[in-house]
Amino acid sequence: MWLAQRVQSIRPSGVRKIFDLARTVKNPVDLSLGEPDFDIPLTIKEEGIRSIRQGFNKYTPSGGIQELREKILTYLRMKGVACEDVIVTPGVTGGLLLAFMVLLNPGDEVVIPDPYFVLYEYQILLLGGTPVFFNTYPDFTLKEAELRSAISDRTKIILINSPNNPTGTVYSRDELAVVERVAREKNILVFSDDIYDRFVYDGDGSPDYLGRLYENTLTFGGFSKTWGMTGWRIGFVAGPKQIIDSMVVMQQYAFSAVNSIAQKAALLALDYSTDDLIDGYRKKRDLIYEGIKDKYRVVKPKGAYYIFPEVPGGDGDAFVERALKKKLFIIPGSVFSRRKSHVRISFAAREPAIEKGIKILRSLA
Ligand code: PMP
Repeated sequence: MWLAQRVQSIRPSGVRKIFDLARTVKNPVDLSLGEPDFDIPLTIKEEGIRSIRQGFNKYTPSGGIQELREKILTYLRMKGVACEDVIVTPGVTGGLLLAFMVLLNPGDEVVIPDPYFVLYEYQILLLGGTPVFFNTYPDFTLKEAELRSAISDRTKIILINSPNNPTGTVYSRDELAVVERVAREKNILVFSDDIYDRFVYDGDGSPDYLGRLYENTLTFGGFSKTWGMTGWRIGFVAGPKQIIDSMVVMQQYAFSAVNSIAQKAALLALDYSTDDLIDGYRKKRDLIYEGIKDKYRVVKPKGAYYIFPEVPGGDGDAFVERALKKKLFIIPGSVFSRRKSHVRISFAAREPAIEKGIKILRSLA
């Protein structure tokens, strides 16, 4: 009786449910997680500890400390991403929330390829917006006709996530150019969630960026994945100055500012390449893909650390329960999609766990 109406549109993330359950089972084979299995590099941790000792423990400016904002802008511009300004946020999660807060009027529509990262849907609903999904099955590429069919007079934002959670898809320049063309034509903003941009396994190891093609793009990036800093809660959003300025004001009221220590550590992280840690993920990708491809209909992931096979019988929810009985934790595709035919398997795990997972998956097919 105390809760606000908006709570009715929100249900707990299906990812969390599995995560909590996994903690109660002895020796689970946990392929459900969305975070890298490597720890934060020692020098970055030590920079955090040093900044505590040096007394860098007070509020920082709402947009983030100036050196970090400048360094992130340089980092993005080196990749060719257009950005007038940047704000440091409590993860991409906090960045998305602030961006939706300053942009969405009730009923505004956000167009998103399905499957999609679950958080988008609920943040949009929370703020009175309407998520509108368009289909990318069965190969998870972006198709212009499907995208166009989702656009209406109320479309304010197209939200793209590449490399993609949960499918591992990395969009080609041609696919991104389709998004750019449609957005330009209809004067729509683009959100580009690039949080997995260092996790690319083919070609030259870099994705293309929407922020290279279209100036009305908000680029979301973070420290959670590339530097394994999920618990430090730090990320950033870059793009048109007017929007970033407004997000800085909103941050004053929503979060005040980002954790001071994480900002100092992030400053150092930007100079610290984790490519050697991430390199091992290509092998994990190959291991899981080769291990299941003859038993499942599955697209080989090109990035992130997820694989998204279709399950026999087409009921991902029931399949996850069968897997649970064998102590294998994976996430039902219905958490990320209007369809329930697939499951998400994370390969951000040690190789022995992936190998055990493959055995169980083969026995279930
Ligand atoms: N975007 C995507 C696509 C993600 O997978 C995640 C984390 N699972 C986030 C954003 C949130 O990241 P952060 O820790 O920076 O809030």
